[in-house]
This record gives sequence, structure tokens and C-alpha cells, in this order.
Amino acid sequence: MLDDDLRLTARAANPVGTVVEVRGVRIGGREVVIIAGPCAVESENQMLSAALAVKAGGASMLRGGAYKPRTSPYSFRGLALEGLRLLALARAETGLPVVTEVMDARHLPAVADVADVLQIGSRNMQNFTLLEEVGRSGMPVLLKRGMSATLSEYLQAAEYIMAAGNAELILCERGIRTFEPSTRNTLDLSAVPMLHRETHLPVLVDPSHGTGHAWMVPTLASAAVAAGADGLLVEVHCDPSSALSDGVNSLTPDVFAGMVEQVRRVAAAVGRAIL
Ligand code: PEP
Ligand code: MN
Repeated sequence: MLDDDLRLTARAANPVGTVVEVRGVRIGGREVVIIAGPCAVESENQMLSAALAVKAGGASMLRGGAYKPRTSPYSFRGLALEGLRLLALARAETGLPVVTEVMDARHLPAVADVADVLQIGSRNMQNFTLLEEVGRSGMPVLLKRGMSATLSEYLQAAEYIMAAGNAELILCERGIRTFEPSTRNTLDLSAVPMLHRETHLPVLVDPSHGTGHAWMVPTLASAAVAAGADGLLVEVHCDPSSALSDGVNSLTPDVFAGMVEQVRRVAAAVGRAIL
């Protein structure tokens, strides 16, 4: 279907499928992994309360951005090194492994020092020098689909990371730009079976950026798991109305916990379980 030169990412390169293990959490096995936390690290209180809430609600990994790619330079762009420190603190408090974005190769040593998984954001999917750097790091990488990238372009970007010597790679569909303005992006759930068919890599879905509406997130989280997603990346904030980024698509802890229970039933119906 995607007849590019996919030497390392193609399903044929590892027909049984890749499992990426992060501090004992296995991504790509039978169990569906839930990664949750705020869009951005904002303060110690905000990060720790969100971390404890997502752990209580059923998450097995923690997310939070210390370096935020924002459309406007005047928006909150993250706490940088202080954000990384707070992520390490949240991991120490909860035991949850940390996923955080690296926006620039110059930040990689500091981010790699704290992160358990390096996230490459949608806007950097084709930052080829950054892809090679995270490839050389050998650390687990979560590569998000570019907002205007075809699946072929996406897998060629993934190929850059693997070609640099890194097999610890996780894919994540996060919505693509279409002509439909009622959602922030159009969540392309057909990407899940297509990526599973064409590659051996674990495939996550991010229904938060994929929809831009908190109320729609639980429904599309369920749909993603029904479509075979190996995990979810979900934004959660204890007070979404005060969030410094993406409050509109952030779930409260209560709604998050309800979503996990709903997704648990869907997972069981398709022969999976929630980790
Ligand atoms: C994020 O997950 O924090 C993020 C910025 O998402 P994306 O790169 O998909 O826009
Ligand atoms: Mn966000």
C-alpha cells in the first residue's frame, strides 16, 4: 500500500511486531497503555496534582511539555529546564515514566536527562536533523504524525530514526488538517489499521489534539482502542479553565477516570486489556 523504501519500519522487517519497554511499561503488546498529563508543565502544584490524578485514574505513563511549540510566540512556551525538573519530581512522586517533547537538538542533552520517552511533535516530524539526533540517542522515541503528513511521509520520517540506529520507536496519530473546521484536526483513525498493516511499530492515538474538544475525547479514545490502538496520549488538567495551553481539550481528573473505565470495556471487547 505504502510502496516506499521502508527498509526498517516495514512490517516485514519484524513480522511479530515491536514492543517498546519503558521502565517496565510495555508498549505494543496485548495491553493498551494510557499516557496522560497536562499539555504543559506550569508549576509544581499543577504538575504534581495532575500526575497524582492521572495515576489514580489509571494512567501508566505521564506526559507534560517543558518545551512547547506554540503557534504564537506570545503564548506560554513552557518552563524549559524548570519544567524538566518538575517532571522528574512528578516521576519521583508517582513512579510513572515521563514522556516529554524535545523541540530542538540543542535541548536534547537536558531533555534526555529527565525523559523516559522523547516526544517529537507534529511540527517537527520532518525535522530530519532532529530525527537523526534522537535516533542516535538510542532512547525510546514517540514520533507524532505531522499535521499535514501522508502516512508515507510519516513512515519515511520514522525511517530516519531507525536508520540512525534506534529501534525504540512509537508512532502516534494526532489528527490531520482537513477542510473541516468544527474540530481542531480530523483524527484519522484509519491510520491505525494502516500503520499496523504496513509497519511493526506500536501505534498510539492522541484524541486530545486530534479533536480539540474535551467533550469528544472519551468517545474517540474508545474508537481508537476499537481500531486497534496500542495506547492513548491524553491531556488532563485539574483546572482546565486556568490551563496555560490546551485547556479546551484537557480532561478533568474525574472525566479522565471515567474515560479509562469506558476504554477498559472497549479493550476487553477487542481482546485487549488496559495496562
Ligand atoms: C503535545 O502533545 O504536547 C503536542 C504539542 O502535540 P502535537 O505535536 O501533536 O501538536
Ligand atoms: Mn497540547
